[in-house]
Amino acid sequence: MKLILLGAPGAGKGTVAKMLTAIDGSVQISTGDILRGAVQAGTELGREAETYMKRGDLVPDSLIMGIMENRLQEPDCAKGFLLDGFPRTIPQAEALGELLERLNITLDMAVNIDVPREVILDRLCTRRTCENPECQAIYNVKSSPPQQEGICDKCGSAVIQRDDETEEAILHRLETYNEKTAPLIGFYEKKGLVKTVSGTSSDAVVGELKAALGL
Ligand code: AMP
Repeated sequence: MKLILLGAPGAGKGTVAKMLTAIDGSVQISTGDILRGAVQAGTELGREAETYMKRGDLVPDSLIMGIMENRLQEPDCAKGFLLDGFPRTIPQAEALGELLERLNITLDMAVNIDVPREVILDRLCTRRTCENPECQAIYNVKSSPPQQEGICDKCGSAVIQRDDETEEAILHRLETYNEKTAPLIGFYEKKGLVKTVSGTSSDAVVGELKAALGL
């Protein structure tokens, strides 16, 4: 499947993407995970992105398009991909359209995962992430804590609160989402690609998408 996952930070895009990869081997491509990996590795990309990310601002479109241009041409994308956190602006969506056309790839759907603001705020404040850039497993201190406090079940690395998950940065990320990313719903609606699903339960989202895609 070739899907774009739209939705505010905390809507569950990453969780849904991970569940969908198990269905047909499509790969999850999370620009947030790629950028956090680059920050931890101290690469030039990471150094450029870090200040924007800490503030909860978007990193410049040119950096993101450079990443995606390479990533979408890697062989593992041939089976399909789930774009998680990309595109995030209209210029990114336009550039993605041109890139896909050039690569002769057709999208199946842009999924709009809709979650009430109070649920999002609660989820983000209680979310914890594995600090290992290769893992980045997601936990929630209330609903799905790691078995041993502060230690990732999957890889044994430390489970931390992200720098951009302080209350101030979260509110700023949500404002940025409303201003820059929410307009993408209209952009993809015009192309007849949007499917809106209620994201309160990730299992229900995956069930609805499987049915919609005939899987
Ligand atoms: P995420 O994990 O998707 O919430 O992304 C974390 C942070 O990475 C965002 O707050 C942005 O600073 C940056 N980021 C991730 N994806 C993008 C994107 N497509 N465009 C611009 N910035 C991004």
